[in-house]
Amino acid sequence: MSTPPVYQNLIGGKFVDSASGRTFENRNPADTREIIGIFQDSDERDVQAAVEAAKRAYRYWRLVPAPKRGEILFKAAQLLVERKEQYARDMTREMGKVLKETRGDVQEAIDMCFFMAGEGRRLYGQTTPSEMPNKFQMSVRQPVGVCGLITPWNFPMAIPSWKILPALIVGNTVVIKPASDTPLSVYNLVQCLLDAGIPDGVINIVTGSGSRVGEPLIRHPDVQVISFTGSTEIGSKVARVGAEGMKHVSLEMGGKNPMIVMDDANLDLVVDGAIWGAFGTTGQRCTATSRLIAHRAIVGELTERLADRAERLKIGNGLDETVEMGPSINQSQLETVQRYVEIGASEGARLVVGGRTLRDGDYAYGFFHQPTIFADVQRHMRIAQEEIFGPVLSIITVDSLEEAIDVANDVPYGLSSAIYTRDVNAAFRAMRDLYTGIVYVNAPTIGAEIHLPFGGTKGTGNGHREGGIQVLDVFSEWKSIYVDF
Ligand code: GLU
Repeated sequence: MSTPPVYQNLIGGKFVDSASGRTFENRNPADTREIIGIFQDSDERDVQAAVEAAKRAYRYWRLVPAPKRGEILFKAAQLLVERKEQYARDMTREMGKVLKETRGDVQEAIDMCFFMAGEGRRLYGQTTPSEMPNKFQMSVRQPVGVCGLITPWNFPMAIPSWKILPALIVGNTVVIKPASDTPLSVYNLVQCLLDAGIPDGVINIVTGSGSRVGEPLIRHPDVQVISFTGSTEIGSKVARVGAEGMKHVSLEMGGKNPMIVMDDANLDLVVDGAIWGAFGTTGQRCTATSRLIAHRAIVGELTERLADRAERLKIGNGLDETVEMGPSINQSQLETVQRYVEIGASEGARLVVGGRTLRDGDYAYGFFHQPTIFADVQRHMRIAQEEIFGPVLSIITVDSLEEAIDVANDVPYGLSSAIYTRDVNAAFRAMRDLYTGIVYVNAPTIGAEIHLPFGGTKGTGNGHREGGIQVLDVFSEWKSIYVDF
């Protein structure tokens, strides 16, 4: 095999080795014999240097007119379009999800880039009448300063784009710590921004562990904004650090997303939607459909049809266009899936399909697990309450819409939800009563676009949103200005 490329930290416009002198390998989760790249195993000294570079660049970047910043983003979007296929392939190799999905992931970064480029020509504030004569008043968005971004591995380019691009368009500078399982996609995204003309120090990348890089980054007194996507456990620590330092903190965490299926639903549509929602990205989305709450009248037929489809899903290396589901991201995630399969069985749920890790033949070097469905799940079982982040779907039976909504809301998370019905009244009741940040009607719980706010209630987030123009609030301060004349 050819020698894997070495990636250095990006600090102040230069690619440099970590002060630690250590590196780590990034391997393909579908075939761990393949090393994707060697990355810097950085420490606090690198974080310090990156924050200083970002602080220096901020003095300049905040004064670049926002439409000009937008033009750079526009150019970067065009470069991403040209490089889309290559980046999708890189992402499938480093993350495992199938090509169709990694093309979608890069596309989302492209969409975000064009969207934020356009925002550079708006960044609207307000003017309002004053109570007083001869007084003019207005509000303007101001950048905050240096932003510390901590991004996950399940959307290796899309989610970093949701954070980097709004941060930049408002005039902030950035230090990003990509997930250690998927740093390459962040390098690819940032390369387009550099090639489009982003000045030195405006974006800095420091790779490495959460404890040696993430933690000093969020604690750094000069980091004014923290945007984090990851587990609720780490997110709540980030929240505490942010509160102590009076920082802007945006948290995007777990989900236990329900799909309600009423007795009048179009079951063909439901089967397609549930298979995609539960097993797309190998279930590794915070929006994954992990609970199917089905009306008793159709639950039997639906369970059989879903089991049949799940059993026939082609699992393997996502670079093969016929493959429908890739591996879990790493050994520890695979073990989590295995553990929850055991928990489900011991809680008394009925395993209808899957349940096994695949280890032989083509699967010998990857983290593959069968798509798994449990039926007869009770609402308070752990597999119905806890986020698994793997290909496991729990089916819960209910007798009415009221019961379905009650079960749907009865979890510690509130990211996404869905209802399948042909009854417009039921759909509108669900849209009103499902306590989640996102609701789908006749579509699964995944597939959010970037023009609307993305985020959730309860344990999912802290009230902030990504996507939509609302994301700009995380990365800006409002300044109200009064002028007497
Ligand atoms: N964009 C993804 C979706 O709506 C969600 C991102 C995530 O799972 O973190 O499915």
